[in-house]
Amino acid sequence: MKLKIRNGLVVTSSETFKADIGIEDGIITKIERKAQSASADSLPEFQADEVIDADGKYVLPGGVDVHTHLDMPFGGTVTADNFYTGTVAGACGGTTTIIDFAIQNKGETLKTVLENWHQKAKNISVVDYSFHIAITDLNEGVLSEIPRIINEGITSFKLFMAYKGSLMTASENISRVLAESSRLGFLTMLHCEDGDKIDELIKDFLFSGNTNPLYHSLSRPAELEEKAVSDALKLQEQTKGNLYIVHLSSEGALKQIRKHKGRVLTETCPQYLVLSIDKYTEKPDKQVRERNRFLCGIPDDFEGAKYVMSPPLRGKHHLNALWEGIKDNTISIVSTDHCAFNFYGQKTLGLGDFSKIPSGIPGIETRLFLLYNEGVMGKLITINKLVDVFATVPAKTFGLYPKKGEIAIGADADIVIFNQDKKLVIKSIRLHQDVDYCPFEGYRGKGGISYVISRGEIIVRDRAFSGKKGRGKFLSRRTYQVGSGV
Ligand SMILES: [Zn+2]
Repeated sequence: MKLKIRNGLVVTSSETFKADIGIEDGIITKIERKAQSASADSLPEFQADEVIDADGKYVLPGGVDVHTHLDMPFGGTVTADNFYTGTVAGACGGTTTIIDFAIQNKGETLKTVLENWHQKAKNISVVDYSFHIAITDLNEGVLSEIPRIINEGITSFKLFMAYKGSLMTASENISRVLAESSRLGFLTMLHCEDGDKIDELIKDFLFSGNTNPLYHSLSRPAELEEKAVSDALKLQEQTKGNLYIVHLSSEGALKQIRKHKGRVLTETCPQYLVLSIDKYTEKPDKQVRERNRFLCGIPDDFEGAKYVMSPPLRGKHHLNALWEGIKDNTISIVSTDHCAFNFYGQKTLGLGDFSKIPSGIPGIETRLFLLYNEGVMGKLITINKLVDVFATVPAKTFGLYPKKGEIAIGADADIVIFNQDKKLVIKSIRLHQDVDYCPFEGYRGKGGISYVISRGEIIVRDRAFSGKKGRGKFLSRRTYQVGSGV
C-alpha cells in the first residue's frame, strides 16, 4: 500500500514547510520539500494507491497521549470509555498513540496487572498503545518484578501521593521506587497532592454539611499540590531518580519545579489550560434543570460534578502561569488524563457527598482543538511548539521516538491532516467519546480534522472513523534516557 500526501504544510517540532510526502508499507519514505508557490507534483515517480490533496492544510504528526484511563475500575464504577470507544475518539481527535495506566489492585503482582491490561486492549484498540503501571501496593515482591516488566516493554511506573486509604503510597516507598528508577532506567510518575491533608479537609467539609461538588475543589487547594511537589523534588534530590510529575495544575507548584528545571519532567492537561474554578458553581440550563429536578432528583448545585477531577480546576491566574510554563519548557507535555464518567448514573454516585463523585473527565478527543485554538490562535505558542507538546516530546520521553512523534523519513506514517480554516464548535453529541457530556461543550474556534493516518492507513476521513477494530498494536518501549524528554 502506497499513499501520497500532496502540497500540505508539514509541521515538525522545529519547522514548517510545504512538501509532498510518500508513504510505503506504513512508513514515511519520502519528504520532498517545495516552494510555497509550487503546486506541481514533486514526487512524480512515486506511484501511489491513493493521493491526498492537503493543499493549504497542516500536516501534523499523529498525537501521542501519554495519560489515559480506559476501562478502569474506580470508586465503585468503571470509566465510560473502553479501548475501542476511547481509541476511536482519540483517533478522531488526531491521536494515534496512547499510553494507558494499568492499575494494580491490592495484592496483585505486576505480571497480573500487565496481563489484565493486555486483555482489555488486545483485539479492540484502533490506535497503537502501550501502558504504564500504577503501583498501589508496593512490597519486596513487586519491586523485584520491575526488571522483568521493563523487559516486557513497560518503562514507566506511577505512584500516588493522594487518595489516602486506596491508591496512596507512603513517602519512604516513593523513595525506594525513585532510587530504583535511576538504577534501572525507568520513569517514576507521581500524582502530587498531599493526601493526608486532603483527607482531613474532606472529612471537615462533609461533617459540616458542605457536600456539593464545589467542596471537592476546596478540599484540594493549590497549596497542597505545591507541598506535594516540593516533597517530591526533595525525594528526587536524595535518590537521583527519574521523576515525571503528572497533570500539574497550579502556579506555586510550577514555580517549585522551575527552580529545578532539567531535573524533573512535567505534564499538564488542556482542562488546566482552558477551564477554571468557576465551573464548580455553574448551573444547568432551564431544560436540563427541569429534567434534573423532576426526573432524577438532582439539585442545581450538582452540575459542577461534571468538572470533578483531581487535581481540581483552579483560579484563572493559574492558567496563565501554566501557559508560561509551556513556553519556557518547564512543562514539556500536554496529555489528556482522559478518565470519563457519565454524569447520569456515575457522577451521580456522589449526590449528597462530593467525595463519592468519581474523579475524572473526558478529553481524549479534544486535545488538539484546544491546544490549537487557545495556544496557537491565542498567540501563546507556535504551531511547532504545539507539535512538540502534543507528539514529539511525549514520544521522546516515553521511549517511542523516532518511530512515533515526528514527521520524518523512517518514522511510522502517523499523520493528521488538519484544516485550520474550518469552523469549530465542540458538542458532546458530535464526539465519539462514549460519555454523556463534554466539559468543553459549546467551545468555539477554528479547526477540523480532514484525515488521520496510522501506520500508513487512513483511519479517519472528515471526522468519521473508517479503521478496523483491533488494528492497534502494542508498543514495547525503550528505557528512559536522561535528557531525552527535555
Ligand atoms: Zn490520571
